[in-house]
Amino acid sequence: MTTRIGITGAAGRMGRTLIEAIALAGGELKLTAAIERPESGFLGADSGELAGQGRNGVPVVGALVQVIDHIDILIDFTLPAATVATVAECAQHRVAMVIGTTGFTPAQQAQIDQASTRVAICKASNFSTGVNLCFQLLDMAARVLGDDVDIEVYEAHHRHKIDAPSGTALSMGQVVAKALGRDLDKVAVYGRQGQTGARSRQTIGFATVRAGDIVGDHTVTFAADGERVEITHKASSRMSFARGAVRAAAWLWGRDAGLYDMQDVLGLNKLN
Ligand code: NAD
Repeated sequence: MTTRIGITGAAGRMGRTLIEAIALAGGELKLTAAIERPESGFLGADSGELAGQGRNGVPVVGALVQVIDHIDILIDFTLPAATVATVAECAQHRVAMVIGTTGFTPAQQAQIDQASTRVAICKASNFSTGVNLCFQLLDMAARVLGDDVDIEVYEAHHRHKIDAPSGTALSMGQVVAKALGRDLDKVAVYGRQGQTGARSRQTIGFATVRAGDIVGDHTVTFAADGERVEITHKASSRMSFARGAVRAAAWLWGRDAGLYDMQDVLGLNKLN
């Protein structure tokens, strides 16, 4: 049976890559709706042509309500405020969601949690398989190296990224903090300047770079006296995220209401 997929943010960097990823996936998944902001200059455009894939007959529309009856699962990579409005609409119409947007406030996250009591939602700060494997490696490294190391998270992204540190860097910090029984809100240090004093071992530092067209680099350093371990992931194409999000959509179809993540999709939660 065909699973009908809609994309919000269809003309964005991730939106266009998702259109391509769905076309490449073939099989049961079919793009049936492409949604953009009401004031977007792309309304009416053929979404396949927009993604450089040739015509697919799915025009870009300016409101989810116009197409929501033609969607089983909505994939959303937009902006936090847009995602929160979309999630409420999807919960009302019982449309499952894959959420890739990052940068939510705790209040916005609470709205997503609330919607997940009515529909299945898969939300991840990073949908790449490699990054999700890294989360497991980070958990293991933190448990083995324990309180004998200083831990720093470094991330670099393209100049257009609007939130910092990246959602992935924060997730990496969360994994490490949880493994060590620390509260990230209390131990995170976001950047340093001036007379900072010596480093406290309990802290987890974050460093952010924004430059050029970097798709997404992350390194977590575990540094002791005499040796250090570095776990690095480098994304060279947005297709790594798009392929993961499409895989999540296929996995989500028919699931009970609830909040899932990419670890669930890949079966990695069972390893813990
Ligand atoms: P982008 O700015 O290129 O695209 C966002 C698109 O959303 C734009 O085309 C914009 O017009 C559209 N949009 C905004 N409001 C809308 C609304 N109300 N309805 C419909 N469309 C709307 O950004 P991007 O690089 O594609 O990234 C989008 C988000 O995805 C960011 O939060 C980014 O951090 C996140 N991201 C997540 C992952 C992951 O794996 N989870 C990977 C890459 C990017």
